[in-house]
Amino acid sequence: MSNAVSRGTSPVPPARRPRLTVLSGPSGVGKSTVVAHMRKAHPEVWLSVSCTTRKPRPGERDGVQYFFVNDEEFDKLVANGELLEWAEFAGNRYGTPRQAVLDRLEAGEPVLLEIDLQGARQVRASMSDAQLVFLAPPGWDELVRRLTGRGTESPEVIERRLEVARTELAAESEFDTTLVNTSVEDVARELLALLR
Ligand code: ADP
Ligand code: 5GP
Repeated sequence: MSNAVSRGTSPVPPARRPRLTVLSGPSGVGKSTVVAHMRKAHPEVWLSVSCTTRKPRPGERDGVQYFFVNDEEFDKLVANGELLEWAEFAGNRYGTPRQAVLDRLEAGEPVLLEIDLQGARQVRASMSDAQLVFLAPPGWDELVRRLTGRGTESPEVIERRLEVARTELAAESEFDTTLVNTSVEDVARELLALLR
């Protein structure tokens, strides 16, 4: 017997099962930008679409960036065990639909989740072979500039997200790998290499 943890969800032996990769990092660091850049060149990379109670930003479409749900719908997803992990982040709830992820892993395809620190911790606890990647900003001032410059949140929400960011940055050592987002192109290439 090896020490590999069997979760009983997949017929593919652990040695051949592609890993689930989690990408986390503070709000505004560039997670969506990096993933979008990578998927433009490699649309075959599957990204889990999360459910959220957050309202759509201009340009966001239901089922593309997120499944936008109300509080009651989110409660039901939690109660029915339909989320692999979920967390409250800066006043909204976010969660990963479980079945879609398991289907991809069973089909032998790599899986990418772009989720917050609390979610990354839950994934680590339930899937010990998951790969946790932390996207770090080149510095604090640059993170503030990016989050503010995106122009999608009110000053109050930006403050709240920056407060959360301090905790997230302090948790970097919990991750397997850190990528510093100086160049989107470079990080997208490095992330792709980690997925393969
Ligand atoms: P996140 O998904 O982590 O919240 P976004 O992808 O929305 O962050 O990026 C936040 C802002 O930072 C966006 O305006 C984006 O264009 C910008 N950005 C992302 N990566 C870089 C980078 N390497 N250099 C400069 N600006 C960047
Ligand atoms: P945003 O509102 O900027 O799209 O996302 C806010 C934060 O929620 C980001 O850190 C993002 O990675 C995280 N997030 C998005 N989807 C999920 C999810 O399904 N689960 C968890 N735990 N966090 C998520």
